[in-house]
Amino acid sequence: MKEDYYDILGVSKGASEAEIKKAYRKKAIEFHPDKNPGDAKAEEMFKKAAEAYEVLSDPDKRAKYDRFGHSAFDGSGGFGGGGMNMDDIFSQFGDIFGGAFGGGFGGFGGFGGGQRRMKGSNLRIRVKLTLEEVANGVEKKVKVRRKVQADGVTYKTCPTCHGTGQITKITNTILGRMQTATACTSCGGSGQTIDQKPHGADAQGLKVEEETVSIKIPPGVEDGMQLKVAGKGNEAPGNGVPGDLLVAIETVEHETLKREGDNLHYDLYISISEAVLGSSKEIDAVGGKVRIKLEPGIQSGKILRLRGKGISSLNGYGSGDLLVHVNVWTPKVTSKEQREFFERMQNDENFAPKPEKSDKSFFEKVKDMFS
Ligand SMILES: [Zn+2]
Repeated sequence: MKEDYYDILGVSKGASEAEIKKAYRKKAIEFHPDKNPGDAKAEEMFKKAAEAYEVLSDPDKRAKYDRFGHSAFDGSGGFGGGGMNMDDIFSQFGDIFGGAFGGGFGGFGGFGGGQRRMKGSNLRIRVKLTLEEVANGVEKKVKVRRKVQADGVTYKTCPTCHGTGQITKITNTILGRMQTATACTSCGGSGQTIDQKPHGADAQGLKVEEETVSIKIPPGVEDGMQLKVAGKGNEAPGNGVPGDLLVAIETVEHETLKREGDNLHYDLYISISEAVLGSSKEIDAVGGKVRIKLEPGIQSGKILRLRGKGISSLNGYGSGDLLVHVNVWTPKVTSKEQREFFERMQNDENFAPKPEKSDKSFFEKVKDMFS
C-alpha cells in the first residue's frame, strides 16, 4: 500500500501551494543525501517526498490524485516501482531553493594518455520564463549552490603514482615481459591528492557555496529546451575542470497570446456595432501595445496578420507574425427596444448574408495560415 502524498509531506488535504512547497523544502533538507551519506532510509524518504511534491505542486496532477488516488498514475506518467530518479529530483530544486544542490562527484574529462583531469559534476536548475521573456530574450540571475575548492586547500603530487595518474605493472608471461597501465587508485587517476584540508571542506577539499550566476537566454527558446552554462557546475579537486550548469527552460502560458512555432495567435472579440461601423483596437503584443484598425463591415473569422510581431526566431533569422482572429460577439437582447431594433434589421435586405469569393471559408483560411 502506497503512502498518502499529503501524509508524506505532513500537510492537510486543503494545504495551499505555499504550504506544500514549504513542507517539501523542509523534508528535502532533512533527508538530503549530502546530509545523510549512506543512509538508505533517508534516501528513500528523500525520494518519496520528491514524488509527493511532484504531484501535489502541479494543480492538474493534484486534482487527479485527489479524485483517483495513486491509481491516477498507474498508466503513463506514473513513477513505476522505482519512484523518481535522483536527476529528476535535483532538477526540481531550481524552483524550490532558487538554486541547486550538488549531486555526487562527477566523472572524468578526456582521457589523454596518462593523467586524467577530473571533471566536476553538472548542476541542474529550472528557469521559468514568461512569453515576453521568450520573445525578447532575457538575462536571468539565479542563485546556485555549487561545490568550489575551499579557501586554503592545497593539493600535492600523488605519492603513489608520482603524478602520472597511472600505475604501471610489469608481469612475466610466456610471451615475455608485459607492461600494463591502470588508473592509480590513490588519486583516482588525477595525479594529485589533498594536502591541506581547511576546516569545513569535504574529503576532496571542496565546500558548497552559493553563487549568483547570470544566464543569457536568447529569444525564441521553447519549453523543455536545455541550455548549458559551461564551467558553472561543481568544481573538481586539484587541477580538475568544473562541471556545467544545465538550465531547463520552462515557459509560462500567456493569458491572451498562444504560441505556435514563432507565430502568435490572439483572439479579438468585437461587438456587432464595432463590426458594422469599424473600430480601432489596442492589443497587448509581446513587444508592447499594438493598435489595429478594423474596417467597417469586417467579418467574424477574419484573420489579421501583423508581420514580425511574433517571436524572434531562435536561429536569428527574422521573427514570426501575430495573427489576430476577429470574433464578432453576438449579444442576448435584454429589452423590448433592443428586440424591436433587431427585428427591424431582419427585414432589411442589406443585412442578409451575401458571402463573396473574397470572404474565404474557415477551412480555406486555416489552410492559408499554415502555408
Ligand atoms: Zn596517484
